[in-house]
Amino acid sequence: MGARLFQKIGYIFQSIASIVYNKGEVCLLCENPEEKELICDVCKSQIKILKLKYDVEQQGIKFPCCSLGIYSFNLKKLVLMLKYENEFMAGKILASYLSSYIKEDLEENIDLITFVPSSKASYRKRGFNQCEVLCQYVSEECGIPYRSLMRKKSEGRDQIGLDTNKRWENVKDSFMMINKEEVFNRKILLIDDVVTSGATSFYGAKCLKDGGASEVYILTVAKSRV
Ligand SMILES: [Zn+2]
Repeated sequence: MGARLFQKIGYIFQSIASIVYNKGEVCLLCENPEEKELICDVCKSQIKILKLKYDVEQQGIKFPCCSLGIYSFNLKKLVLMLKYENEFMAGKILASYLSSYIKEDLEENIDLITFVPSSKASYRKRGFNQCEVLCQYVSEECGIPYRSLMRKKSEGRDQIGLDTNKRWENVKDSFMMINKEEVFNRKILLIDDVVTSGATSFYGAKCLKDGGASEVYILTVAKSRV
């Protein structure tokens, strides 16, 4: 979907959501009364931002990665709300944490942000790519442009239920570049929702690097222990 069209849809969702929440005046997570923010102070205090830094690495190639926290409790709840309940406001909350990290902690100056593409099947099923939604909000908040730079080639199997080796094999060579001219010599931040084995983010980052990016950094909402 074109960035502009996506943006329009995003705004529509946002407007509807803001009407609903202004009227409801409840916390998105616990549904207790909350008039000013999307989530209440109690729920906010239970979101543990740990800024876990590590490399995603395969056969001597590595990319620096940061996950905001562990995939559990409220962070997990927000990811699932965005992904399966079309709750764009959950995405907005997550994006605000990603944006704070970019503004306060990321030392490198990023030229572009992009996202891990979803398969055609899951895009059709869900109607949007949750990583693109995060990118859109982060872009608005940080003033860094976002672009769609990759396409998922094969449908592949869903990563869920596969062991580590199979996950790497399953996702290998599954991305291809689009808009190649935008990538050359640029520092790119790749946004993903949840990292498990790291295979998806790794091959996404590798695709960008092979396509001519000068540097690729990975930023994810959460790291799953499983
Ligand atoms: Zn709450």
